Amino acid sequence: MKLSLGCIADDYTGASDLANTLTRQGLRTVQTIGVPPDDLSLPEVDAVVVSLKSRSIQADVAVERSRAAEKWLRGRGAGHVLFKICSTFDSTDAGNIGPVMDALRADSGDSIVLVTPAFPETGRTVYQGNLFVGSVPLNESPLKDHPLNPMHDSNLVRVLARQSRTKIGLVDLATLSRGAETVRARLAELASNGTGAAVIDAVFDRDLETIGGVALDHRLSVGASGIGLGLARALVASGKVKSGASGAASGAPVGGPAACLAGSCSQATLAQVAHAEKAMAVLHLDPEQVIAGPGEVQRALAWASDRISNGPILIASSSTPDQVAALQSRHGRDAAGHAIEQAMADIAEALVGSGVRRLVIAGGETSGAAVDRLRIPGFLVGAEIAPGVPVLRTVGVNQGEMLLALKSGNFGGPEFFSDALKLMR
Ligand code: ADP
Repeated sequence: MKLSLGCIADDYTGASDLANTLTRQGLRTVQTIGVPPDDLSLPEVDAVVVSLKSRSIQADVAVERSRAAEKWLRGRGAGHVLFKICSTFDSTDAGNIGPVMDALRADSGDSIVLVTPAFPETGRTVYQGNLFVGSVPLNESPLKDHPLNPMHDSNLVRVLARQSRTKIGLVDLATLSRGAETVRARLAELASNGTGAAVIDAVFDRDLETIGGVALDHRLSVGASGIGLGLARALVASGKVKSGASGAASGAPVGGPAACLAGSCSQATLAQVAHAEKAMAVLHLDPEQVIAGPGEVQRALAWASDRISNGPILIASSSTPDQVAALQSRHGRDAAGHAIEQAMADIAEALVGSGVRRLVIAGGETSGAAVDRLRIPGFLVGAEIAPGVPVLRTVGVNQGEMLLALKSGNFGGPEFFSDALKLMR
């Protein structure tokens, strides 16, 4: 197998977003959790997105992990690698975008790298090198108060220059609007005076397509899911990839019992849990008992084993905002959250151990805890259940293939759990 596109994402949810975007464009895509082992057996795919947690760690560790991911992807034949960053350019003057970009550029041998976090469909646009979030510049957006990466400068040429060892240039919208050849000429001019990276403007989807086409001349690019979309469309347009992802994860049915877990307390999830009561057996955990000890998990597993052979079940810790606030005031927010996440991971592990092969999980952190516990190396991304929530088919697991749906809190319609199970056969 030879990958058409390799991606290194600096966090898990950004990786899923990118993997979903590539799949929607017709690329058969696998998302891996961490750098995969060398012997990971993969189905025939066009793209792999390696998910790291490297956005806010020490720069030298981020560099080391990203280089390992790049090495793995190049080893699988990836001619082009996208370093996937946040569409709001989350970083500090210490990194990690600049240091990782510098290291990957050195490894790839590119003289110049295109950089853009633009993703117009989600309101991220870049003009004259300035990043806008909706209608306001980055430094006036809520990102100015981000707890880890407060963004106080919307000019990405300056932001990146403070993090990188190379000179940073700009390819502006006027140049871009004249077409791919003009962009190529501008990049050649920048490269000839020693500029190693160019921030490129993008305001519309068609800009991403031009950028994607030019980026494929190079071995490395840096950006968010928007440039992923441009790269994917360019790969399909050039015939390097045959657009065929939609059925990729549908594959053979996995069958067996199905279970849903809800650890999200979002409005959407609370409504989805209420709707599920009409379609399946539902157990509401007592969050106080979950924190008290393992008894509540045992109770849930006994309840599940009595019902699972009769149809899907749902186990939920979800509570209303008042109840959540009360629990947090008694135990602390982090301690309560962690205890419930670990209980959900215990339940997921035991259910899979007893034969469950189809698992729907509501809640970003809850999903992360369960996926880590189940030691799932990666997923083939399939049909979309709801915008941003695809069916995932595990790859590289020992205990047989599973289908999962991992939903972050606010996603999905009222019938989400039933909708998911209809697509997960
Ligand atoms: P979302 O995607 O909606 O943010 P997450 O799973 O990421 O959902 O986060 C929900 C957090 O709330 C998790 O840490 C989870 O363990 C915690 N949690 C779940 N149920 C409760 C509850 N009843 N009270 C307090 N915290 C809870």
